[in-house]
Amino acid sequence: LTDLLSVTEAQKRITDVFHAMPMEKVGLIKAAGRVLAVDIKATNDLPPFPNSSMDGYAVRANDVHTASLESPVFLEVIEEIPAGYLPKEEINAGQTARIMTGAQIPTGADAVVPLENTGQPIKSILPGNSEIVPIFHTPKIGEYVRPRGQSVKNGDMVLTAGRKITPQDLGLLASFGISEVPVFRHPRVALLTTGDELISPEEPLEAGKIRDSNSYTLAALIEQHGGEVIRLGIAPDDRLVIREHLDRAISMNVDLILSSAGVSVGTYDYVKAIIEESGELAFWRVKMRPGKPLAFGHYRDVPFIGLPGNPVSAFVGFLVFVIPALNKMGGINKTQRLTQRAYLSHAIEADGRETYFRATVKLENHRFTASLTGHQGSDNIFALTQANALLIIPSGVKSLPIGSEVNFWLLNGEELS
Ligand code: AMP
Ligand code: MG
Repeated sequence: LTDLLSVTEAQKRITDVFHAMPMEKVGLIKAAGRVLAVDIKATNDLPPFPNSSMDGYAVRANDVHTASLESPVFLEVIEEIPAGYLPKEEINAGQTARIMTGAQIPTGADAVVPLENTGQPIKSILPGNSEIVPIFHTPKIGEYVRPRGQSVKNGDMVLTAGRKITPQDLGLLASFGISEVPVFRHPRVALLTTGDELISPEEPLEAGKIRDSNSYTLAALIEQHGGEVIRLGIAPDDRLVIREHLDRAISMNVDLILSSAGVSVGTYDYVKAIIEESGELAFWRVKMRPGKPLAFGHYRDVPFIGLPGNPVSAFVGFLVFVIPALNKMGGINKTQRLTQRAYLSHAIEADGRETYFRATVKLENHRFTASLTGHQGSDNIFALTQANALLIIPSGVKSLPIGSEVNFWLLNGEELS
């Protein structure tokens, strides 16, 4: 086993080969979840003009510095400013304007008194028949005023390239009038499953056959991680047919070929041999469990990752090796998966390879505890569905007593259920 690559070395050799996809522009409503391809600078101030954060009266704070509930100050109401309309008048001493949330603060005013701190306006006897309103509160200068540029100044850097665009980001982009967003194009990933034993889920089960489960898990994982799936389907263990499928991938201009099975040492494991003949096999086999028979190289000129056939091995291999590659192709600048620590609820044994155990992690008394989920055979996809985490036992470790601290990755959206 000593000649096998470590997980870290294999990850490095894989990710080194990939680079970010070219950029494309998508409409704002399609941009959530995509990866931003350029830095975004503000193209206007936010807010773009000083405005009221309350429905109330725009005042000169100095005019009402004696105002209280017992002794209100009366101001002349010279106009009403709805949101979306500009003030027509300047506020002079003794004057105010009724203002709505989001409307521009009129010249002369320096504070807003919310409606709640004012009384019913009454008709005044002043010439012009205007209204007067009692003000019950002494505002500080700037109270309930959102100054121009308070949140963002024109020209400020607001979003950096490589960021996965959130719904909130869309709102920010919209605020700057950016309706076409430059994002990295989705990498195109051809997916091939191989094996004479495989039948599709639509077909009745036959003796000696199993249903192809990897196609579904892997396709969904590819899409979850920003890839576009090109389904090549199931190839039998037949050199010619496997080649035909791989050539089809080449003709479809894919960025990565991902295959499942056929890269082990069995008599009918042809995939690895084909890569060696018509491309280049950079390495196969990694010092890990599950997932040792992992092949990496090129088929013709296209990067190729051959995952093991066992469903859990294929899943773990995807998380460990394919996600970093997809992240790099996708232009994502933060690629490290969040590793957390948990305490073992029972002793465990490993074989000295870096091991990924299916586990259930719970929050108990403010700390994470982990226990293994089901039998750990690499075919046990049921245990994988029941687990909410993968424990990562470093290479060289053969046993860990109860209470040991271990690293884990949460599965399924990084949430505890
Ligand atoms: P192989 O890598 O071809 O030696 O396959 C290893 C194990 O994974 C065998 O038990 C296969 O039957 C199983 N297997 C291979 N491909 C799939 C698949 N697409 N879905 C489920 N199991 C598979
Ligand atoms: Mg096979």
